[in-house]
Amino acid sequence: MTVAAASLIDWDRIRGDFPLLRREVHGKPLIYLDSANTGQKPECVIAATDDFYRNHNANVSRAVHQLGSEATEAYEGARRKLAAFLSVRADELVLCSGTTFALNLVAYSWALPRLQPGDVILVTRMEHHANIVPWQLVAQRTGATLRVAELRPDGSLDLEALWVAMTPEVKLLAVAHVSNVLGTVNPVAEICREAARRGITTVVDGSQALPHMPVDIPALGCDFYAATGHKLCGPTGTGLLWAKHEHLQAMPPFLGGGEMIKEVRFDGTVFNDPPHKFEAGTPNIAGFVGLGAAVDYLSGIGMAAIHAREADLLAHATGELLKIDGLRIYGTAPEKAAVISFAIEGTHSHDLATLLDLEGVAVRSGQHCAHPLLQWLGVGTTCRASLAFYNTHAEVDAFAAALRKVTRLLA
Ligand code: PLP
Repeated sequence: MTVAAASLIDWDRIRGDFPLLRREVHGKPLIYLDSANTGQKPECVIAATDDFYRNHNANVSRAVHQLGSEATEAYEGARRKLAAFLSVRADELVLCSGTTFALNLVAYSWALPRLQPGDVILVTRMEHHANIVPWQLVAQRTGATLRVAELRPDGSLDLEALWVAMTPEVKLLAVAHVSNVLGTVNPVAEICREAARRGITTVVDGSQALPHMPVDIPALGCDFYAATGHKLCGPTGTGLLWAKHEHLQAMPPFLGGGEMIKEVRFDGTVFNDPPHKFEAGTPNIAGFVGLGAAVDYLSGIGMAAIHAREADLLAHATGELLKIDGLRIYGTAPEKAAVISFAIEGTHSHDLATLLDLEGVAVRSGQHCAHPLLQWLGVGTTCRASLAFYNTHAEVDAFAAALRKVTRLLA
């Protein structure tokens, strides 16, 4: 959808669906620019979670009573909604607590039993710690090594260097679909195609992609796709791992317990079929009911419309910020999601974020769980303003004005 077509949508009405955005902070209207950290929740998500606890609460897949079957149906219904949202099979979707869990599941269940000394795990410079540390832990235990694919100065992946780095020793490539610091959208389909040609298994961290654009996982051609629900207007403690069925069949369980078994005997246990094999214990049932409502809500607006709306807001915000003296934006790749990391000469990002907060503006400051990227950028910390479709042009203007004001105070 074009920006012009998206502008016909009543975004003010949509913003009204988010109760928290009506509150004030320090006596000023809240301007929430931290959606890359966690997204705000529309009324329907809050209501779905509330309704579950008020009217249907029971555990899943265990009780034969009415509430038990309602809870199971609600939970499995959420899985089906998520599967449709991502164009995948429901039985290929493992529901879990978030991206961190999902990536660790691949690390411990897929990589740990397979990798050996001499093997290489390829990661990119722009990964979140959740897509670095699990691979370091696996490398330590298997004798494999980590290799880093570097970036171009604008924060896009250096694809030529990436192809060169894909040597026969590389068994696994872990790559973000969208960078949480730079906003760079990686050409994941092309990367996965090149990796597959070389027999390299691909793990895509989709945490920052799902909230911003339509994602058709099979079209990407990856082996694993991880994402988190709380950035997608859903409750915290929800997330998913999609994997090809043959991987899920072959992988041993990561955690043992109830739900993930068919039969337990002291001389051996028969595991459940995927995806349940990977869902030991009581899941975050109400959370997934909320996440199901979130994807219904987002689909109702349309991810293409959300993408166009955010492109418009990003262009506006970038233009306004670049008018500020001494401000530098980190991440200027041509394909970008609505994430702007910036620093202002002579100021510290924590000071900026603290003073902005007093103006009602919530931005994140620090290293954004991406120390290796910040080291490469050569900047200790940055501020990050991350926009969502529920932000407005007026908020962007107020943010820029507040930034000018606090920069003057710090000068
Ligand atoms: N990957 C990326 C790119 C992220 O931005 C985040 C969260 O900020 C994560 C992984 C981790 O997500 P979670 O803490 O929900 O597991």
